[in-house]
Parts: sequence; C-alpha cells; structure tokens
Amino acid sequence: MSVKSRESYVEKALQELSKRWKVEPPVYDLHLGKRDDVKDTMVQVNDVIFHIPFLERDDLYLLWKCLWPDCHNCCEHQASLPLTKDDIIHISSKLGYDRTSDFVNHDTIISTRDDNSMGGLITTITMLSLKRKEHEDESDTGLPCRCRFLSESGSCSLHPDKPGVCWLYPFSSWIQIYNGRPQVHASFQLTGDCPGFYTARNLESIKEVLEEYSKTIFDYNMSMIRTTRESLGASNWVEAENANL
Ligand code: SF4
Ligand code: SF4
Repeated sequence: MSVKSRESYVEKALQELSKRWKVEPPVYDLHLGKRDDVKDTMVQVNDVIFHIPFLERDDLYLLWKCLWPDCHNCCEHQASLPLTKDDIIHISSKLGYDRTSDFVNHDTIISTRDDNSMGGLITTITMLSLKRKEHEDESDTGLPCRCRFLSESGSCSLHPDKPGVCWLYPFSSWIQIYNGRPQVHASFQLTGDCPGFYTARNLESIKEVLEEYSKTIFDYNMSMIRTTRESLGASNWVEAENANL
C-alpha cells in the first residue's frame, strides 16, 4: 500500500469506526498525522521499549485497551498474517495436517509488505503468510479483508494457536541494534481499525497492558529470529543510527 492510499484507507476506516464507537478528536487527528506536537515517550517494561505518543499541547498520552468481546474489528479488516516458524508448527497441527509441508502448500502464500513503524524508516518484509480467505493469492497482499477464522460470534477458531501477529495487535515491533546488542522496541499501529485508543494524563491505566504485552512482544521477536535463521522469513532489524528515534 502506498503512503497516499494508506492515508486514504486510515481516513475511511476512522469514519467507519466513528459510526459505532466514540473516537476522541485527538486520537482521530493523531491517526491522520495532523498533530505536530507529538513527543515520543520511551517506556521500558521488562525487555521491551515501548514508544508511547505524548501530545504536548493537550498534555495527554495516547493509550490503548482491547474492547473484545464487544469488538473484533481487527479480524474484520486483517491486512496480512505473516507466520513465524512456531506459528507454522502450531497452526498446521490445529488445522489437522500431519505434515507442515502440506499446510504450507494449501494454506499459506508469500507476502511482501513495507513496514514503516520504525520512526519513518521503511523496511520491506517478506514472510510466509496464512491465507485470510480460502482463495487468497499474492494480488490480495495488503488489502484488508475479513479473516476466515473469525466466527459469527466474534471469536477466533484458531485461538490460542492464532498467529503471533494477532497476539501483538495493535502493537508493531522491531529489533534495534545498540552497541552491537539487540533491543526490542514496540509502538502502536494506527490503522484506523481499532476503537481501543484513548487519551489520559498519565500512564497508570496502561501499565498492566504493557506488562502483559512486553512478554508477548519479546517472545514474538525471539520467534522471528528463529524464523529468519531458518530462512522462513525476514526479520525487522534496524541499526540505531538509521532510525529516526
Ligand atoms: S480492533 Fe482493537 S479493540 Fe477491537 S478486538 Fe482488535 S485490538 Fe481489540
Ligand atoms: S487468525 Fe484469529 S485472531 Fe487472527 S485475524 Fe484471524 S480471526 Fe482474528
């Protein structure tokens, strides 16, 4: 998705979201890049550094909590489901395959996408990805659709073996190298599909979420490293001097 079509997608998604949920004006504007007073606040929780946007003029942080089971909007507008090696093993077994090679042949495609979560630096990531619909092919890559594993009642039929990226959303994460040592970072993906964002004067109400997600995000990145080592995908590694953070 180009930058322009991404902006237009986010705007349309926010309009849809606003029909059902209250989206605070600062949250709306932040999604559309209309705020020029955003300060990146780095918060280290366990082994992950979270980047929390702070709106200086309003003295407000952008925070998040999941509204499931009242919401399953992310599964309704799923853009891509890249798989780690662990995902491939777990989902293959969950779907009843005896051999992961059969799962890979029938239920995955290769998808390539640009990731711009790292301070404006764009990296291209190529991964084996789970088909979100029965007849998905490479031309569908990046085009959001309802995931085939979302049930009518709004639950995931793969849970708890759903892909790692589903556990991460709405965070995106990457590994940054400082002095030759890897550090895991995470920030919010502002796609316009999630009504869970809100603002607050301090970080108190998100502490529990960050504690829980720090473990999920760290484990996911370790799984990504194993996946890369076995040439099943490309990991999101950034040299510190190249990132605008
Ligand atoms: S869209 Fe956001 S609030 Fe809704 S289920 Fe997904 S993460 Fe939770
Ligand atoms: S695999 Fe499950 S959690 Fe992930 S998008 Fe599909 S329905 Fe949602």
